[in-house]
Amino acid sequence: MPEQHANRPHEAFAAILRLAVPSPLRRTFDYLPPQGYSSTQVAELKPGMRVRVPFGSRTLIGVLLSLEAESTVTVEKLRPALEVLDAEPLLPPSLLELYLWSAQYYQHPPGDVFHTMLPALLRQGNRAERPGRKVWQLSETGQQLTDEDLRRAPRQREIVEFLREHGALDKSAVTELDISASALIALQANGFIVMEERPPPVAGVQGTAHAVRQGLTLNAEQESAVSTIVACLDHFQCHLLDGITGSGKTEVYLQVIAAVLAQGRQALVLVPEISLTPQTIARFRQRFQCRIAVLHSRLTDSERLNAWLEARDGVADIVIGTRSALFTPLQRPGILILDEEHDSSFKQQDGFRYSARDLGIVRARTEDISIVLGSATPSLESLHNALSGRYTHLHLRGRAGEANPPALRLLDTTHEVLTEGFSGILLQQMREHLARGNQVLVFINRRGFAPTLQCADCGWVAECTHCAARMTLHRTQAHLRCHHCDARRPVDRFCPLCKSRNLQALGLGTQRIEQFLEEQFADTRVLRVDRDSTRRKNDLDVLLNEVHQGKPCLLIGTQMLAKGHHFPAVTLVAILDADAGLFSADFRGQEHTAQLLMQVAGRAGRAGAPGEVVIQTRHASHQTLQTLVTEGYGAFARSLLEERRAAGMPPFSHLALLRAEAVSAKAPEEFLAQVRELAGELNAQMGSGVQILGPLPSPMEKRHNRFRAQLLLQSPQRPALQQLLTALCPLLEAHKSSRSVRWSVDVDPQDMI
Ligand code: ADP
Ligand code: ZN
Ligand code: ZN
Repeated sequence: MPEQHANRPHEAFAAILRLAVPSPLRRTFDYLPPQGYSSTQVAELKPGMRVRVPFGSRTLIGVLLSLEAESTVTVEKLRPALEVLDAEPLLPPSLLELYLWSAQYYQHPPGDVFHTMLPALLRQGNRAERPGRKVWQLSETGQQLTDEDLRRAPRQREIVEFLREHGALDKSAVTELDISASALIALQANGFIVMEERPPPVAGVQGTAHAVRQGLTLNAEQESAVSTIVACLDHFQCHLLDGITGSGKTEVYLQVIAAVLAQGRQALVLVPEISLTPQTIARFRQRFQCRIAVLHSRLTDSERLNAWLEARDGVADIVIGTRSALFTPLQRPGILILDEEHDSSFKQQDGFRYSARDLGIVRARTEDISIVLGSATPSLESLHNALSGRYTHLHLRGRAGEANPPALRLLDTTHEVLTEGFSGILLQQMREHLARGNQVLVFINRRGFAPTLQCADCGWVAECTHCAARMTLHRTQAHLRCHHCDARRPVDRFCPLCKSRNLQALGLGTQRIEQFLEEQFADTRVLRVDRDSTRRKNDLDVLLNEVHQGKPCLLIGTQMLAKGHHFPAVTLVAILDADAGLFSADFRGQEHTAQLLMQVAGRAGRAGAPGEVVIQTRHASHQTLQTLVTEGYGAFARSLLEERRAAGMPPFSHLALLRAEAVSAKAPEEFLAQVRELAGELNAQMGSGVQILGPLPSPMEKRHNRFRAQLLLQSPQRPALQQLLTALCPLLEAHKSSRSVRWSVDVDPQDMI
């Protein structure tokens, strides 16, 4: 009787369940099958199923990775699992493989990787079933409405028109399409619309190929990009689509996706956090009348689960989302597209510190499909791979349609007297553009009024009591605020050291620029777009709507404005200060600043009116800036690559950053000194030759009341670095002083803070 042997697996068959369990440990856990499981039942278990297990005094939900014949733990010590939650694996094997690969590569606990990647409801043990959908529909009276009837209620009319065209409005799409809830309520109250419950849609009902609208006629470079990518759809290939802002990259994506849909396959599109806007989604919806699952941050848990399942079950043809959407399973994967591949939001900066771009490439390889990385300002990593022939390098050099690329110009301010950051020449130019009825964008990447409050008599500076950082002065709410821990306090009236009342606001922030420009341009509307002015849900839309009306205005913005938006009436972009970023200590400072400058510059002159970009600098003769302005980003990036090669920095070497933090000032450095020793020993044993630098205090030594230090590991060979980390991390987990600090590993760190 096989049943009798069910709990003595070593005798008969592979019946140890190896699981990823949400725990902070970098290892898997073995269990016996649930009590009373027959050998037939055990044989039906498959990797990718969820299993409820006892864990210490708790019960947790783990994911089955494999069935093993033997455990590293003696069988007597193994506990039986409590329950298997799925009849079929939740995930296809390719995604299981991706999850495990990334746990290993990023040295992150596998249980936590699964935990981070699964929708919350699945982590909590809910059934992997799609619920019915709730949709709005026109009622009989609603169908008889004429255009006249809703003349005075444009938002209601929009909804009625949408329903006429599409038949139904998914409740979950209401936020995504930015539809007014009060207009819906009004329509319902009048009996014009009703809500209905529909069964979940199934795959393949719609037939996708004919649901694609005609695209634009491509120019030669677009044509060549599309045909190169389409020729590679049936195998793994990475393409870098290197095209200036407005060159028609999105049109290339759309036409590639059309080809993928025609093959009956699905497309996964990743965009930076900041550009997942209703406008982006609208562009896809206009082109494709098929099912599009959008994974945005405002989804409820059940909407998120539904989107995930629609993708997995092949119901959604297109999936669009930010970083974490990379982990959405697809039934028939056809293409992976990552727009603005250089964007830092593709790298997760805490917890499971992965790069969605790098894992995207791994995923494409696992699923044997092509991946397209698009950017106007490719990261040096991707550019290097394209130049060395690992990726195909597709260029879009001109702007699509009519518009001309903006002209960049450096404005040397070395001998200029600046008033609130503006040279006289710049103010004059702004006046001229406004007088011609155009809009002007002023870019300054710092919110608040001023970054520093200083005593003019003794030099005291207002600092955060929790961080090694200065407090930013905010004028609108009249307080000091720390931009690192969000601590706030009233503005000091006098200096706490010398009692002087002579306190000065030093440096420039968006609020200060706003105040100054309102005085200088009394008749012109001044609009400020930063995190503070767009806190509430519709703030940004209201501001952008006003800009889009096209009347002359002054637009002040931080990097929030730099991406994804089109401002056709802006003809002058003024960049107040390019120097801080270009000369920062971070080795990626120049790269990131140049990317940001080019992105901001790309906002100008999109519709016929030629744009002009003025960059104020005290380093106008600096070689790097010169190259950027006269020869463009491509030439600039190549010269930066040569510098990196000479210095042996990424992409010519590989880094891992070990960070530690603690309440006590000494603990982080002491812990890392021990790590250094351990790493040194392993290095010697394995002959890996990894360089170990530090420990050093972090660039920001104290944050949120915790002291911070870091240790950098560097190697020209990735495998050597990986080997060392794989041996090192378990030792650290077991190390006794690892309990007095919080530590983490960041493989391929983007930010050295
Ligand atoms: P990018 O994604 O590179 O910034 P977009 O795809 O948004 O560029 O294109 C910029 C503008 O040019 C859009 O208004 C788009 O409709 C238009 N456009 C793109 N390709 C073409 C084309 N082949 N012919 C005419 N207009 C085009
Ligand atoms: Zn003082
Ligand atoms: Zn602080």
